[in-house]
Amino acid sequence: MRFRSSKVNEFRLWGLALTMGGMLLMIIGLAGIVFDWGKAGRIIAVVFMILGMITMMVSMGIYFWAGMLSTSATVIDCPECGRRTKMLGKTDRCMFCKTILTVDPQFEPTAESETAAAVQASEHELHRELEHKPH
Ligand SMILES: [Zn+2]
Repeated sequence: MRFRSSKVNEFRLWGLALTMGGMLLMIIGLAGIVFDWGKAGRIIAVVFMILGMITMMVSMGIYFWAGMLSTSATVIDCPECGRRTKMLGKTDRCMFCKTILTVDPQFEPTAESETAAAVQASEHELHRELEHKPH
């Protein structure tokens, strides 16, 4: 799984998005009762309400899990922007500048894609720096 932002932020975002989705499903379910579509309406209402409940429960679980993860995350100072950020696992991104952070600069076989991306990003930075030199 690839993350575009820091893992804690990503989980929180998904948790929130799913909660919203669950609420929306429950509202759709309520419409089945409000508009009085008869038996079909009631079935739709029940189905959507249950789906909405499940979605909300799952998303709340994700949200709490993200909270738990963030308390167990390593707190480090980002080398790029100097701000204090939380890091999950061996590789993660800075919460503020999205820089890939890694505990182990030696390329880990498990984090192959991540480190490859990191190398690419640093190369990109280098090119940008060269372009900006003539100032
Ligand atoms: Zn940073």
